[in-house]
Amino acid sequence: MKIVKTIAEMRFIRASLPEPLGFVPTLGYLHEGHLSLVRQARTDNASVVVSIFVNPTQFTPSDDLDRYPRDLEGDISLLCKEGVDAVFAPSVDEMYPPRFDSRVEVDKLTRRLEGASRPGHFAGVTMVVAKLFNIVQPARAYFGQKDAQQAIVIKKMVADLNMNLEVITLPTVRQQDGLAMSSRNSYLSADERQAALVLYRALMLEQGLWSQGDKDAEKLRNEMVKLIGKEPLATIDYISITDNETLEELKEVRPPALVSLAVKIG
Ligand code: AMP
Repeated sequence: MKIVKTIAEMRFIRASLPEPLGFVPTLGYLHEGHLSLVRQARTDNASVVVSIFVNPTQFTPSDDLDRYPRDLEGDISLLCKEGVDAVFAPSVDEMYPPRFDSRVEVDKLTRRLEGASRPGHFAGVTMVVAKLFNIVQPARAYFGQKDAQQAIVIKKMVADLNMNLEVITLPTVRQQDGLAMSSRNSYLSADERQAALVLYRALMLEQGLWSQGDKDAEKLRNEMVKLIGKEPLATIDYISITDNETLEELKEVRPPALVSLAVKIG
């Protein structure tokens, strides 16, 4: 497995990798969620590239850029075992040299949900992913449903800008007790980790009520608010039930719908 730090070297190595090429962009500090994408990429493609880049432009000023967990050596050894061909791990200067002056943005879709809570976040995501797609030139790129809006926004960017690749979204990998795997879970104390299970319980409650015939979005949202309200360490940022493509809030919940929530724990 090649460890690549520069764009020039990535382009050089990419030219000799067999087609089709599958690509998994990440911020690193890898876990089974990331590895599920890598394994699917390995199954679907003749070669696989994974990027590890803590992209500063997608962190808002109140985000956690400085303390975002990192372990490049550990990540490399995990990816080696998955048969990845190359890991692209550029520096910030390599990706954003002095006088960098461009933007790639998806508009309306990024004003909702996470975009409303973290203004500027998705502009950073689309910019870095567009750059990575240009550098790595994948036939397929893999994203997790855990970051549901991100996957929807990337699909829109690829369609609108006629990028020549397929975007594949894969299900959220969870711990046995239901907590979605996330690099940021390392911030949680034992009590907070326990409290964080309320997110999964809320999603399961909603799914249960919906399959018993409750289709009223406001009622379903209120039930989730009630459940999460019982957890003292939890503060709701948003709970949303939207169309899975337009991200417009639904009144009546009909597939394809997306239930998503952001909750601060501790
Ligand atoms: P990140 O390193 O957090 O930017 O994640 C890189 C990719 O892995 C994104 O497409 C995420 O949605 C995906 N991912 C992260 N956690 C999970 C998970 N628990 N299950 C599935 N995909 C995930």
